[in-house]
Amino acid sequence: MNNKSIWDADLYPASFPPLKENIKTDVLIIGAGISGLSCAYELLDSAESIAIVEQNAVYQGTTLRTTAKITYQHGYIYHDLNKKHGRDKARLYYEFNRGGIERIAEIVSSENIDCDFKVVKGYLFALTENERINIEKEAVAYEKIGVAYRLKPVNERLCPYDALEVKDQANFNITKYLREIVNILTARGVAIYENTRIIDVFGDAQTVAVTSGNKRILANKIIVCNHYPVYKKFNFFFTKMIPYYSYSVIAAEGDAGIEDANYINTTSPTIALRYVTHEGKRKLNISGASHEAYQFKQPLSEINRLKKFGKDKFGIPDYQYGWFAQDYATTDLFPLIGKIKDNIYVATSFNKWGMAAAAAGAMMIKNLIAKNDSVYAALFNPTRAAINCKFLGYNLKVVGTLLKTRRIPNRKVIKLKPDSAVILKKKGKRIGIYKDPEHKLYIVDITCPHMRCGLRFNNLAKTYDCKCHGSRFTYEGKLIDGPALKDLQRIPVTKLHEYLE
Ligand SMILES: Cc1cc2nc3c(=O)[nH]c(=O)nc-3n(C[C@H](O)[C@H](O)[C@H](O)COP(=O)(O)OP(=O)(O)OC[C@H]3O[C@@H](n4cnc5c(N)ncnc54)[C@H](O)[C@@H]3O)c2cc1C
Repeated sequence: MNNKSIWDADLYPASFPPLKENIKTDVLIIGAGISGLSCAYELLDSAESIAIVEQNAVYQGTTLRTTAKITYQHGYIYHDLNKKHGRDKARLYYEFNRGGIERIAEIVSSENIDCDFKVVKGYLFALTENERINIEKEAVAYEKIGVAYRLKPVNERLCPYDALEVKDQANFNITKYLREIVNILTARGVAIYENTRIIDVFGDAQTVAVTSGNKRILANKIIVCNHYPVYKKFNFFFTKMIPYYSYSVIAAEGDAGIEDANYINTTSPTIALRYVTHEGKRKLNISGASHEAYQFKQPLSEINRLKKFGKDKFGIPDYQYGWFAQDYATTDLFPLIGKIKDNIYVATSFNKWGMAAAAAGAMMIKNLIAKNDSVYAALFNPTRAAINCKFLGYNLKVVGTLLKTRRIPNRKVIKLKPDSAVILKKKGKRIGIYKDPEHKLYIVDITCPHMRCGLRFNNLAKTYDCKCHGSRFTYEGKLIDGPALKDLQRIPVTKLHEYLE
């Protein structure tokens, strides 16, 4: 089984240079995932000039590992939103995401993008009697906020109960879509810089972003779309953003015998289904099994859980791809989109539903810049306080995790197998040693530069992951996600003996 995302086959075919000098631009966008690229697209006609700065390569963050369902049916959510925030806010959330679906459909059609875009139905289904009751409650919530639906049976192999059907959802091939968006942007003069990390953002009338190589970008507006906002001042993002791991598998062959649609059930961890077109064939994609990063599970166990679901329900024996990624959710379930300061904006934390929401978020940012107004401005205000039970529970867990991850017993390394890692602690320093398949050793200091949590080795991705706030690093120490802004410190192999007993 290939442990990369299925979309890996369609990466952008060229690379962009890093930023080597100070520059000026009208709009600077930080991060080239679906959020940043969608913002750039929406501003093409109004901005005088646009620059995008990406710390790795275009659309290779969480966006590359999505399952790319474009939908407002985000599981069992509207009942919760109604209960916690009231009907008007729940309706706004629905309308916002519906607008995102419509916008992607419009862009695909007007730009003639060949990306396997397909309009499908969405089904919220129940696997158990308890879930059947959730379906009833969700139907009541749909009634209240005006979502058109009907209850109808889906395939009996999948579930014995009626599912909640909604029309006009969609799915696509995310990399084919974004490849074309990047082509459009560059053809219209947008400057893209890869391998360029922003480490600070500040300013008022004139805003400034500083790169790790100490280059300065002067901009009239900055839009921060780098997953975990690099803007640090007084916004306490770490208290309201929860990192989640989610998993995805693709069946090797065969049709599951269910209608071509988007499916998701009502309990957490959820199971979601769609078909993808791959190598000219229709293959089933099973995803979900989400959990908070602080629970840290080795991805293969969760991937096996999804495979077992496919085998039990549809008799699928073999799987071609199995991957995972991390996405951020907020403690009140609304994304963080809007102004954080004059001329500095944020669009992130889509609660694991960043396709429609990023497209709608980009339109919202465009409106905020042009008219300083949006019907969603108060609801998604990124500076809002989101203090609730989830906030308290999560932050207590983080404090516990932070203390726990610091306790690593001193260990003696007897033998390290190729393609595996061990974590050691000596004289107060935690180190991770990874041996690659060619037996080469890589040693890094595995104290997270963000808040000094101890990192865990992720066997599937070969990364060191932080359970507290989601920073992730390659085994070579390169930062790939999360609030940290520095790579891990590399330790020369010649110093290894200092860490062994
Ligand atoms: C397994 C899985 C399945 C999913 N399925 C769905 C689905 O079916 N439908 C759906 O709607 N959503 C889904 N999602 C969620 C969706 O994929 C995400 O919400 C979305 O891709 C997030 O996009 P983004 O642009 O915010 O983040 P990213 O794609 O991570 O982009 C952020 C970019 O910023 C860059 N960056 C970070 N820090 C810096 C810095 N300091 N300087 C410069 N650049 C920086 C990163 O390298 C990255 O490229 C899924 C997620 C997962 C993990």
